[in-house]
Amino acid sequence: MSAQQPYSFFQNVEKSFDKAAKFTHWDAGILEQIKACNSVYRMRFPIKRDNGTIEVMEAYRVQHSQHKTPCKGGIRFSDGVSQDEVMALAALMTYKCAIVNVPFGGAKGGIRINPKDYSAYELEKITRRYTSELVKKNFIGPGIDVPAPDYGTGEREMSWIVDTYQSLKPGEIDAAGCVTGKPVTQGGVHGRKEATGLGVFFGIREVCNMPDIMKKQGLTTGIENKKVIVQGLGNVGYYSAKFFREGGATLICIAEFEGAIFNPDGLNEEEVFQHRKKTGSIINFPGATNLNHTNDALELECDILIPAALENVINGQNAPNVKAKIIAEAANGPCTPEADEIFTKRGILVVPDMYLNAGGVTVSYFEWLKNLSHVRYGRLEKRFTENLNTHILSQIEGLTDKKVSDKERTLIMHGAEEIDLVHSGLEETMASATREIMEIWQANPAIPDMRTAAYVSAINKVATSYAELGIFP
Ligand code: NAD
Repeated sequence: MSAQQPYSFFQNVEKSFDKAAKFTHWDAGILEQIKACNSVYRMRFPIKRDNGTIEVMEAYRVQHSQHKTPCKGGIRFSDGVSQDEVMALAALMTYKCAIVNVPFGGAKGGIRINPKDYSAYELEKITRRYTSELVKKNFIGPGIDVPAPDYGTGEREMSWIVDTYQSLKPGEIDAAGCVTGKPVTQGGVHGRKEATGLGVFFGIREVCNMPDIMKKQGLTTGIENKKVIVQGLGNVGYYSAKFFREGGATLICIAEFEGAIFNPDGLNEEEVFQHRKKTGSIINFPGATNLNHTNDALELECDILIPAALENVINGQNAPNVKAKIIAEAANGPCTPEADEIFTKRGILVVPDMYLNAGGVTVSYFEWLKNLSHVRYGRLEKRFTENLNTHILSQIEGLTDKKVSDKERTLIMHGAEEIDLVHSGLEETMASATREIMEIWQANPAIPDMRTAAYVSAINKVATSYAELGIFP
């Protein structure tokens, strides 16, 4: 907790929860149980560095809620990891999963290291030891707690985790489901990489298709021709930009660490990405104007602003200058509570992170289901669908004496691949979560913003599960 920040991260999450809880009818005891972190495992273990010295690791796994099992949440490798941070992130996972109807409790893990300071061999030893500590205490398993990548970890670490788990639990048939975010060759699922950016697109498209909401924001319905700004051209920002552009929006500005570029006629994220790869910077992109400061991008005239970089970038200082009509929180925590209050007063719609960036955990759920069913999505029905569609098409062509174009033929005959099913499952998840939150908000006009409505949605679902479990008769 710094001098400027009176509350810790976990306390901030509790404050947002309390703000929303006032709009629910649940007993104070139930609300207290939902807020609490059920299990906090703090561990220390030694690692021998490449230079022969011994270093003691500080690591955590927090299971915030078991109202649904297994628990789910990423593992973060960062020198900012603390018990408070892991507890806050675990709590947010409970609420995020509930909002998007992913039947998991919330969890999070962390190791307090800067992975850049360690060799690949050292990181492997740390990850494997961490996993075996989790196994020893029954803190990992396909029906207990299922980690995933987070800041500082990726497919490689997930491979080490599943391999360690399998070697300690020989013969456990569902062992591949002990972790998600694995490479496809190790039981991962197609579509995980772009999942968060695509989820951002599906969520915002659903909001933009709501005539009442759009009228309130002074916008026409639909994504087409909306002017969009993206901050951060990393995984989430790149794919958000791609899907918005392909959906018909105009990407007028991209901001990165080193600067921002503007072109009112539209930018192409892949060309900008290649230019950055070649020159080391997004600035001086052909046909675009460079902005003086990268943060100026946040204050340009636009319809949708997508912060997809870091937390706290929109705060009490710059929020009064933001001209966007919708802020799509692709990153975690890009708007501070002060910015939120300013936007509520100014009628700017903030679509909250906790649900909007849930695409990653949603597709992780699909990966876990794939692991438990031991079969790739589409394997059983793809050929059947194609044969049936071929038959139907040839019957229609025979009866009408007309032929469809080759392009139409390919489209009609196509049987679903894994990627098609993952994308359509994500689309359905984001669209229905958006409608549920909006219904809560519209039913109670005293709810000040969409973030609070999202929390209300989460609280109602978690409390209902506890009630259904019979814990609170
Ligand atoms: P990333 O590291 O791939 O990308 C972040 C990008 O932001 C980088 O290109 C970086 O250079 C850029 N950036 C950093 N500071 C900036 C600044 N001041 N101005 C402009 N650009 C800046 O990370 P990511 O995985 O895309 O994650 C981005 C955010 O989304 C994080 O808040 C993360 O927690 C959140 N998130 C990610 C996922 C996921 O699946 N990757 C899921 C949920 C939430």
